[in-house]
Amino acid sequence: MKKFTIKELMRRNIVELTPYSSARNEFTGDAQIFLDANESASDFLGGVGRNRYPDPNHTKVKEKIEEVMGLPKEKLVVGNGSDEMIDLLFRIFCVPQRDKVLIVEPTYGAYSVFAAINDVEVSTCHLREDYSLDLRCLETIFKLMEKSTPEEGMHKMLFLCSPNNPTGNSFPLAEVKRVANNFPGITVVDEAYIEFSTKPSAVTLLDECPRLVVLRTLSKGWALANARVGLAIAPPEIVEAMHHVKYPYNLSGVAQDVALEVLSQTKKMEENVQMVQREREWMERELLSLKFVEKVFPSDANFLLVRVKDPDATYNYLRERGIIIRNRSTLRGCYGSLRITIGNRQENEALLAALREME
Ligand code: PMP
Repeated sequence: MKKFTIKELMRRNIVELTPYSSARNEFTGDAQIFLDANESASDFLGGVGRNRYPDPNHTKVKEKIEEVMGLPKEKLVVGNGSDEMIDLLFRIFCVPQRDKVLIVEPTYGAYSVFAAINDVEVSTCHLREDYSLDLRCLETIFKLMEKSTPEEGMHKMLFLCSPNNPTGNSFPLAEVKRVANNFPGITVVDEAYIEFSTKPSAVTLLDECPRLVVLRTLSKGWALANARVGLAIAPPEIVEAMHHVKYPYNLSGVAQDVALEVLSQTKKMEENVQMVQREREWMERELLSLKFVEKVFPSDANFLLVRVKDPDATYNYLRERGIIIRNRSTLRGCYGSLRITIGNRQENEALLAALREME
């Protein structure tokens, strides 16, 4: 199968784009007076610099990520949640109404929503009943794609979410590698939940898989969903294009500051992850002791997918008691299942107490 270079896969207008150059991008070095960016000279918030535009290159955040997560800063793109990373990739690679993407379902719903927003068609390959990758299905699709070219339109991206939302399982790295090397477009591995997993990250495949992008977020293990900080680890051409396409100041100064703050609290992150792993194990046992629970799927994430006898009744019953979970029971591949986020011990006990009352 013909393998395309990253530049060949990119939209022509992006390859040829003259990116916007902000005042803060053009000046580097020391100065005392900044009259270059039409900012306010007054700082209403007590001299912390909220009157100034933030660093568009997120240099300190990237240095901290390199230090804490061991991800090389030149391979990083940082932005407004990993959702921004997904949207940027659509805008860089997919020509609306011509290109397509491939999604492995059931999975995180945003991939197909971003595809729809960008007017890009979605092809679907379903996971097997045990939620493992159906490599035969994927490879049959790759074969059917053999004659497609970027000029005429093709499947530009394949999304793999590992650990997968909402099924909770991870895909073996050997399979991810095989898929990433056989798929002619860009393989995006979304590792939003990787901190809760003991399985290895696809970041280790970046050198062997030239068209691989890995996504991470500070929203889960790092407990910073409110600040919206996500990242991509990608080959240099993709890093460059993502910087050209993103809003110049895509990550606010407030978000950059709090990101630096949480990234300095590695111990708290580890304790948070250990708490989730302990509670997950305990919840799995407790849930299985309920008569109407048919199955609790193994999870590498901070949630459990639980198949119950009557998912709608269970969901509504909990909702009436002020406990909100996610009803996934109408998703193909998840029939009868609810997704329950692992809370703290008090929250988990309240959920279990309510479920026991329902029995
Ligand atoms: N990827 C997956 C698999 C998710 O489940 C979510 C959010 N629940 C995201 C990405 C988005 O994360 P962020 O908060 O970084 O935008």
